[in-house]
Amino acid sequence: MIAVLLSFVVALLVGLYLPRLPLVIIPRLRPMEANLTPFPNAQPVNVELVAQLLLLRRLWQLSFMFALLPLLLGLFVLSVQSDPIAFGLFIGGGWAMLSRILPEQALELPAGPYSMSLIGEVDQIRRAENDCCDSPDVRWEVTAIRCRSCRSVHLTQARPDLGRSRTDGLVGTVRLLILDGHPLLSELES
Ligand SMILES: [Zn+2]
Repeated sequence: MIAVLLSFVVALLVGLYLPRLPLVIIPRLRPMEANLTPFPNAQPVNVELVAQLLLLRRLWQLSFMFALLPLLLGLFVLSVQSDPIAFGLFIGGGWAMLSRILPEQALELPAGPYSMSLIGEVDQIRRAENDCCDSPDVRWEVTAIRCRSCRSVHLTQARPDLGRSRTDGLVGTVRLLILDGHPLLSELES
């Protein structure tokens, strides 16, 4: 009984988390690596950043396709015999799929932390003639977009994962899988 339950839970987690894997892996492959400041430094708000956000948005939107694999595999096995692993894959994959295709607004695929309005705001900051001080150096820090010289805040928005290669190994990878691109800190900042 316990073995059955355990295999169901493991399969469920695989089904749920498999669609998150591409976002953890693909942007960090050598040929896909963007020309960004190395992790975990603050990233300057520039064209490269906006392009990377658009790419991550597209990847996040397409990640539902990776839920098809556990979903269909589970369904296939279940059509032949009842099996806790297949059942777990089916439920996990189905749940992951639904959470990634049900639109949050106006017939648009959900894009996780990479909403078009956020990317638009970042792009506006990039284009703006920032006149917060004499030598503006606007960067996306962990909790907000700030000017490095005068510390004035340009956008109170925690930084989502930018797809940069990380230096924190397995812990970082697990964290990425759990957060699904979302920032660890949300608007706690004053
Ligand atoms: Zn400034």
